Amino acid sequence: MNFIETRGNAEGFAPKVPFSYAIQHPSASYGGLYVPEALPELDSAFLEKMQGRPYTELAFEILALFGIDIDEAVIREALALYEKFDNPKEPVPVVKIEEDLFVSELYHGPTRAFKDMALQPFGHILSDLAKKSNQRYLILAATSGDTGPATLESFAGKENIQVACLYPEGGTSDVQRLQMVTEDAPNLKVIGIKGNFDDAQSALKSLLASERFKEQLRKSHINLSAANSVNFGRIIFQIIYHIHSYLALLEQGEIAMGEKIYITVPSGNFGNALGAYYAKKMGVPIEKILITSNANNVLAELINSGLYDIRGKKLIQTNSPAMDILKSSNVERVLFDKFGAERTRELMDALNNDLHYSLTPEELALLQEDFAAIDSDDAYGMEIIRRYAEKGYVMDPHTATCIKAYENLKERDLKMVICSTAEWTKFAPTMLMAIEGTEENRSDLEALQRISEKLHIPITPSVKALFDKEIIHKDVVEKDAIESKILQFIQS
Ligand SMILES: *Cc1c(COP(=O)(O)O)cnc(C)c1O
Repeated sequence: MNFIETRGNAEGFAPKVPFSYAIQHPSASYGGLYVPEALPELDSAFLEKMQGRPYTELAFEILALFGIDIDEAVIREALALYEKFDNPKEPVPVVKIEEDLFVSELYHGPTRAFKDMALQPFGHILSDLAKKSNQRYLILAATSGDTGPATLESFAGKENIQVACLYPEGGTSDVQRLQMVTEDAPNLKVIGIKGNFDDAQSALKSLLASERFKEQLRKSHINLSAANSVNFGRIIFQIIYHIHSYLALLEQGEIAMGEKIYITVPSGNFGNALGAYYAKKMGVPIEKILITSNANNVLAELINSGLYDIRGKKLIQTNSPAMDILKSSNVERVLFDKFGAERTRELMDALNNDLHYSLTPEELALLQEDFAAIDSDDAYGMEIIRRYAEKGYVMDPHTATCIKAYENLKERDLKMVICSTAEWTKFAPTMLMAIEGTEENRSDLEALQRISEKLHIPITPSVKALFDKEIIHKDVVEKDAIESKILQFIQS
């Protein structure tokens, strides 16, 4: 299968490219993204056949239907990484928490967030391409806490790939920071910057625009690539677990074949939600995809009113930092799918130049055929965490926003699967405040211990071990020192 571009095709760009190209060079014409030319169809016979089969087999079958140009042996090695999750037989447990509510626990991988679902296999595939083509890659990441650890973990020790990761000092939890600064491999560089996530991201952007930086990369024959979800190499793995959710409910006898379900996704860059949209289009019986936002409610506003508007908006720091976002990259792929390249380019140009765009009423109606959305805030999230912990289910602050959709957006009496995107251990101080109903902000370690004792749940061993590991990456710098740090790193 080939890939085409969301903003149309410019001179100098191939009109169609294979998967391997799209993941090595993720920026398309006019700043657009790559999308599959068509999607494979999954009928009920396929779903029937896949019932009860291991996750890795399902994933293999889906990738085969996409017909990606990656060697079968490499795909199998990439998917075998799921067998290192907590339960090798079931990397993504789907757990019942209410009569009609289920949680797809996407966080059982090495860094305890759902980013591992895509970055583990994607890292293997990209590294293999780099090795075979004898090309060097530099992957730059700016993280608010989950992408960084998952990217580092995925590429640690890989040939021909270097990763430079920027995180806002003080802007992540201790666990997230330790996951990065203790990651020990010569091809990794982790730099704390003085500022917030916005500063980290804009530092990365100015780096990408710097002639001196680009010249150095050219001289050293280094290609630049991205591991964020603009890369379709991540999205493809994020379709699979939504199909798996449907199969899990079938296997558990909760639904009959063909019965529709809701899927609820706590959204930021919209990669996870886009995966659910593709799964629906491919034929999985999904009634609607319900999107939750936090106080940064651009996505909920778009889906409810057709207006994407960031004029005068400032990023609000919340308890669900991975959803703190103003420009959500993957919405573009849905716009393209529904309205075509010309209109997508027009809308994205409007967003870049005028900081807003508006869908027509007809366009909004098309969007609402597949999506509904609601926003939540920290107070609501804290209340939900406390309430479910009392009932015996522990969910992190991102996952908690999904309950708002469960309580407000169901128009039909159907079962719902919510995506749990992180383990509670990554946000222990917030969790403890919610559970104890206090404002006292404790350290991660203390909060982990108190929650573990109080709720009689274990602290994940890899998280506990972080506090005794050696700190490898000690750099914390001002924004203007980043470029030279990274140049030093790639020349070393
Ligand atoms: C990345 C992330 C999200 C947002 O996912 P998108 O695919 O960017 O919408 C939500 N929750 C957690 C914990 C995350 O790490």
